[in-house]
Amino acid sequence: MMNIDLIKNPTLRRVADKVRSGVPVDENDALAMLATADVVELGLIADSVRRRINGATAYYGVYYGVNMNLNYTNVCELRCPLCAYSRDEGDADAFTLSLDEIEQRVRRAVGFGIDEVHIVGGLNPALSLEYFTEMLRRIKRVKPELFIVAFTATEYDYFARRSGMSISGLFRVMIDAGLGALPGGGAEIFDPGVRGRIAPRKISGERWLAVMREAHHAGLKTNATMLYNHIENPSHIVDHLSRIRDLQNETGGFKTFVPLPFHPENTALAVEKQATGFDDIRIYATARVYLHNIPHLKGLWMYLGEKLAQVMLHFGVDDIGATYHYEKVVHAAGATTDDVGSEERLRRIIENAGMTPVRATAAY
Ligand code: SF4
Repeated sequence: MMNIDLIKNPTLRRVADKVRSGVPVDENDALAMLATADVVELGLIADSVRRRINGATAYYGVYYGVNMNLNYTNVCELRCPLCAYSRDEGDADAFTLSLDEIEQRVRRAVGFGIDEVHIVGGLNPALSLEYFTEMLRRIKRVKPELFIVAFTATEYDYFARRSGMSISGLFRVMIDAGLGALPGGGAEIFDPGVRGRIAPRKISGERWLAVMREAHHAGLKTNATMLYNHIENPSHIVDHLSRIRDLQNETGGFKTFVPLPFHPENTALAVEKQATGFDDIRIYATARVYLHNIPHLKGLWMYLGEKLAQVMLHFGVDDIGATYHYEKVVHAAGATTDDVGSEERLRRIIENAGMTPVRATAAY
């Protein structure tokens, strides 16, 4: 692998010098990285950040998980324009899983050998806090070692408002019921102008960050996500990364950053542009360099497609996602990937890129 000292592009040279000296890159550097066509040189910088964070011995390790997705309801009060998944109560294809159905699905997935359950759903006013705590307890009763990654900041804000509990009290109750970590969804793009168009009724970016701060103070590790490829521009992306980096400097609670390319099909958001491969690469590599204080960068094969996800392993990504038995959300929006990956396939994608697969959960 070529050394970053050999980088020729003058703008990227400046970024590489900062990275080598341990100086955090600034917002102008991020904008320059998001605009460069020199993605190979950008990739060298991202790869060097990844190597420094993971350590030399772990350099060739790429994480993957064997998990199931539990989307417990698609009924949601918010009906965000960006969402293809949600329905109104009474719609023909609206659903809410009973606790017995959830337990059955988990039992079946345990038969596939899962280590983890990943839970997100809509904001359904018919569901009480007891439904959620009992859900976690029942999953733990099926198999106590299952690691539970559950609910977005949007859902926690909703649970707290409806139950009259504080967010910190809510986290105590959820941890007691079996919660292990937070998946980090609902961040979208923090900028209020963009957010007001793609998810006008969702909690603000400030509130999302405040809920995450509480989660970190409660000892929970979380992901942070960013939805791109809709109406945002590069400055909105940099603002988003910047706010996440600031909170990470304060709490250290983000374990993984997860960029999510927007899939417009079946949503109410008219998006004419489609991200190119270079757009995707620039966003992932820039995130790896800018978020020097977050240990992992996840390139979800289900969102990117297996081929591009594999390429990203050389652009800063060290986690390719998991098997996701029963995934519903991104497929409702037209993702053409399979809705379940086999462990063998994920291992082959990683090995075929010259790296070593490491099976893990969000507790890694
Ligand atoms: S994105 Fe989430 S909060 Fe918005 S409508 Fe869909 S399920 Fe509901």
